[in-house]
Amino acid sequence: MNKRLKALFLFIGLILLFVSCSGEMNEEEKKPPKDPGGTDGKVTVLLDAGHGFGDVGCTSEYLDGLYEHELTMDFTVRLADKLRALGYAVILTHDGISCPTAAEICEEADKLGIEYDAEKMSPGNNVFDAYERAIYANVLAARSEIDFMLSIHVNANADTNTATGFEIDYCAENSSSEMSEFVFDSICNAIQRDYPERRLKQFADSWDMAFIVTKYTSMPSILFETGFASTPSDAELLLDEAWRDNLMTTIAEGIEDYFLK
Ligand SMILES: [Zn+2]
Repeated sequence: MNKRLKALFLFIGLILLFVSCSGEMNEEEKKPPKDPGGTDGKVTVLLDAGHGFGDVGCTSEYLDGLYEHELTMDFTVRLADKLRALGYAVILTHDGISCPTAAEICEEADKLGIEYDAEKMSPGNNVFDAYERAIYANVLAARSEIDFMLSIHVNANADTNTATGFEIDYCAENSSSEMSEFVFDSICNAIQRDYPERRLKQFADSWDMAFIVTKYTSMPSILFETGFASTPSDAELLLDEAWRDNLMTTIAEGIEDYFLK
């Protein structure tokens, strides 16, 4: 091999080495922070049962007189039990019986130096609305260092009774987007593994499109739509206790796959 050829091979070798190293570096950089923030060493999850109080959420003629807020509370309690059994600390935004008022949330936020838009707060309407929940989540996070928040909902489509499946969203344009995406991917993988036939629509929302509870929250947060109340086949699943329980097992495993494995 002449000198020139040797030099050429050496040069190509160095380039290949550089490319593979930088590839590894990218993989390394991608690794998200996983340290549980709480002082008790547990991963702390905040669960939000969508709606309730002055806002019952959606319903339909197929839902046996139930409303979204009753189903979201049922899902939430099931998921909370499963996560606690796995060793997580779980906090709920509300218990379905009482919730903090806008004035209480503002007072706590002021004490803790948490920013909020006072005009978006709605005092006195007995609706624990999405913006109030988001700011309340930030208050709770300031007290307990919450690692992740999940808001659970039931979908409805006014135009058709054939829409079906899960929908899952996170805000791709806020300070916790990067970590939200990791938990989001993990939950999506668990859903696709356990529900391969069921449609799963995944949304990495822009700031303008994002749900309020995913965009104004300081911790990684995801909103999950369990199914369509407005579609008979989905409503049948939503009314099936075993189906609801199995679904929350899958979500717990998705969270587990990210945080503890
Ligand atoms: Zn909802």
